[in-house]
Amino acid sequence: MKVILAKHSGFCFGVQKAIEKAFEEMDYAKKQNQDIYSLGPLIHNKQVVDDLQERGLILSDTINEIQSGSIIIRSHGVPKQIYKDIKSKGLQLIDTTCPFVKRIQKIVDQYHRDDYTIVIVGSATHPEVIGINGWCSHEGYVIQSPEDIHRIPSNKPLCIVSQTTMPIPLFENVVAALKEQHPNIKVFNTICLATQDRQEAALELSQEVDAMIVIGGRHSSNTQKLVELCRRILPLNTYAIEQSSDLDQYDLSHYETVGITAGASTPNYIIEKVIEKMDKTYRKVRQIAIDGPAGAGKSTIARMLAKKMNFLYIDTGAMYRAITLKVLKNHVNIFDQQEMHVLLTQTELDLKDGQILLDGQSISDEIRTGDVTENVSKLAAMKEVRTWLVEIQQRIASENHVVMDGRDIGTVVLPNADLKIFLTASVEERARRRYLEIKEKYQNEVDFDEIKRTIQNRDFEDENREIDPLIPAADSVHIDTTQLSIEEVVQKIQLLFDKNTHQAHA
Ligand code: SF4
Repeated sequence: MKVILAKHSGFCFGVQKAIEKAFEEMDYAKKQNQDIYSLGPLIHNKQVVDDLQERGLILSDTINEIQSGSIIIRSHGVPKQIYKDIKSKGLQLIDTTCPFVKRIQKIVDQYHRDDYTIVIVGSATHPEVIGINGWCSHEGYVIQSPEDIHRIPSNKPLCIVSQTTMPIPLFENVVAALKEQHPNIKVFNTICLATQDRQEAALELSQEVDAMIVIGGRHSSNTQKLVELCRRILPLNTYAIEQSSDLDQYDLSHYETVGITAGASTPNYIIEKVIEKMDKTYRKVRQIAIDGPAGAGKSTIARMLAKKMNFLYIDTGAMYRAITLKVLKNHVNIFDQQEMHVLLTQTELDLKDGQILLDGQSISDEIRTGDVTENVSKLAAMKEVRTWLVEIQQRIASENHVVMDGRDIGTVVLPNADLKIFLTASVEERARRRYLEIKEKYQNEVDFDEIKRTIQNRDFEDENREIDPLIPAADSVHIDTTQLSIEEVVQKIQLLFDKNTHQAHA
C-alpha cells in the first residue's frame, strides 16, 4: 500500500502560533505560581487540549469566575466586550487571536462605526463568528446561503465579511445574490488561505487515491469541511479519525493507495503517528534496521541474519563506496556543488542478487581498493550524497524484506522499521576484533593501542558529525555484543523480530 500525505495539511500558521504562545506563557505562569486560563478550548483537538490541561491550563467558558492570573484568548478571537472585562478585572491578557481573524474584527468594528449593516457569511454558533459579531455589538447578520439574504434590511449600505473557514464558492454565491439586491455594498473576502490550501490539496489528492483518511477533531469545522470535500469524490472510502488508535476499527488492506489529510488544528505528531501506524500495519515488506559504532559487528551480523531469514541484505557502506568509486573514476571535484549534482543525477545505483550495480555494472571488488577506502568518509559526510543514497535505500526497502545496517538507519533511512537494533561493544573488545582481523588478513604485527585510539576517535567523529550523527533511535533495542558470539546475537535479533511482528499483528 502506498500512503500519500496531502501537500497542505495539519496545523495552520494561526494555530501553530497560538499553541506555541500558550506553552510559553504556561511555563512563565508556573514559575510565577500564577493561574492561567483559556476562554474555551484553545483548539478543536481533544488530544492537544488534554495535554494543555495536564500541564496546568484551566479551561473556562466565561471570565465571571476568574479573579486573578492570566487569560489566553484563543486564535478564534472574542467579542470586543471581553477585552474590556479582562481589563476592568485586572487580569493579564494573552491574546493569541489569529492575525487573519483580527483583520475581520477590525473591518467589522470600522464599518459598524461608519453605520454599515454588517453581514457575516458563516455559522452563527461558531466561536469565531460569535467573536466577530461582538465587534459590531452583535448586530451583524449571520447567513449561510443565498436563501438567507431576505433577512437583511436594505436601508443602509452593507459590509460583507466571511468566517475564515467558509468554502469560496458559497461566499461568492452569497455575494452575487446580495449584489443583485443591494446597490451599495463593500465586500471583503476574509477566507483564510490556509483553509483554502488544505481544501484544494485534499480534493486534488482524493482524485488520485483509492481512499482518504482525514485526521482532526470531531468539533473542528475545518476538519469536517475536509471530510465533506473528500466524501464528494470518495463517498464510501473517506475515513474521519481523531488519532492513530481510531484506525483499529477499519480494515484498509484492500486499498492500493491511501491519501492522508488533516485539519488546521491537528498537530504534526498525531499525523506522524497515523502514517507510522499505516506503514506498520499495511506495508507488505518487513524491515530490520541495525545501527551502531564501528567494530560492533554490524555488517557480519546483518549479513548472517539476512541469510537466515531469507531477507535482502543492504550494505549501505558499500553504496557509499560505489559513489566514491564513480567520483574517483570521473575525477570529479567533490567541493564543486554543480559537478557533484550532475554526477549524482547521471548515476544509477541498484542492488541485484546481492550485488551492487553501478550504472548497470557489478563493482564488488573495485570498491574495496585503497583509494576508495581513503576517500569514502568525505563522500559519506556530504548532505547531497546522503540524501541521494537514502532515497535509493528507501526505495529498495519498500520493495523487499530487508536487513540494513549503517549509522543512521533507524533514525533517518527506515524510521518505521519493524525492528531497530543498536549494537554496541566495549572499545577494548572492538579493538581486539580489529586487531585479530588485521593480523589474520595481512599477517602483520599491529599496535593494539593504536587501533584502540583510532576506534575512539572514530566514535567521537560519528557521534558529533553535523549531518546524521550516530544516535540510537529512541525505540531501538540495545544489544551489547562484548560477551556474545555472532550466532548468539543473530539468534537474539531473530527472536526480537518474531516477538515484535507477532505483537504488531495480534
Ligand atoms: S485557519 Fe487561518 S484564520 Fe484560522 S487560525 Fe488558522 S491561519 Fe488563522
